[in-house]
Amino acid sequence: MLIDLHAHSNVSDGTDRPDELVHRAAEAGLDVLALTDHDTVDGWPAARGAGSAENVLVVPGVEMSTRLRGAGVHVLAYLLDPAYPPLADELARVRESRANRLSEMTRLLTEAGMPLETADVLAVAGTASSIGRPHVADALVAKGYVADRTEAFSRLLADGGPAYVPRYAPATADAVRIVREAGGVTVLAHPWGRGSRRVLDSTTIAALAAAGLAGIEVDHEDHDAAARSALRQIASAHRLVVTGSSDYHGTGKVGHALGVNTTDPAEFERLLDLARTAAAAAGRDVPQLGVA
Ligand code: AMP
Ligand code: ZN
Ligand code: FE
Ligand code: FE
Repeated sequence: MLIDLHAHSNVSDGTDRPDELVHRAAEAGLDVLALTDHDTVDGWPAARGAGSAENVLVVPGVEMSTRLRGAGVHVLAYLLDPAYPPLADELARVRESRANRLSEMTRLLTEAGMPLETADVLAVAGTASSIGRPHVADALVAKGYVADRTEAFSRLLADGGPAYVPRYAPATADAVRIVREAGGVTVLAHPWGRGSRRVLDSTTIAALAAAGLAGIEVDHEDHDAAARSALRQIASAHRLVVTGSSDYHGTGKVGHALGVNTTDPAEFERLLDLARTAAAAAGRDVPQLGVA
């Protein structure tokens, strides 16, 4: 039983269509795949349709951009009602802010001697409903200014870099609460990866657990063996579910092949139990697993 609970499609900054993503998951031997695009659920119908055809259990999810003491923190949310107004409003607000910062980013890049227009970014983003810095990176690659996304980030787009423009994100604790109200469960994505490690100390994780956080993504390529071992202890201390996943982005992110990390089936069952409890408490129409 192979379970991968974090993957992106081209509905955000991955490179595979949702149905292609599920097809590749089947080829990789996965039994369960969560679709977790950044701040959008628009890929759910296509992914779930493909899941039925490919015999892959597709878990509907979303990777929410949140903010904690000035740092970006990614929160994976699963099995929530995306129509719950406070949740839909927050996601829409983040997507709008993502789109609105493009003119400022392209202005900064143009000033830095790399002429770029918003239209160039939208062209490479294609049908994506959530536009991210990786799309700006792709536009820079298309213009021949940089070799790949990695160089675009290291030279220009990384937090604090010359073309970095911040955008709106809800507070992490608010996201955890809203997802619960929407009948879903939350897992901290790559907590000790780039950016979020400095704010996600064990005390802060404990406070989030008390606020309703269900789990933490321990097995992720951003974490070395020491980080995984320390995070496992924190999870155990606060009865948090431990997940493992690829954070697959297609060709958009190297070293993140589908199934490179996976989630223990017993931990997945715990997460599903918590989701059932949250759904019952919320009394909302949450998505059912295995129903396309
Ligand atoms: P955004 O949410 O649009 O501001 O951009 C965040 C996305 O960019 C995430 O999906 C990250 O995987 C990616 N990202 C952030 N920093 C870097 C970096 N230094 N190198 C490559 N990708 C990055
Ligand atoms: Zn991404
Ligand atoms: Fe992330
Ligand atoms: Fe991700």
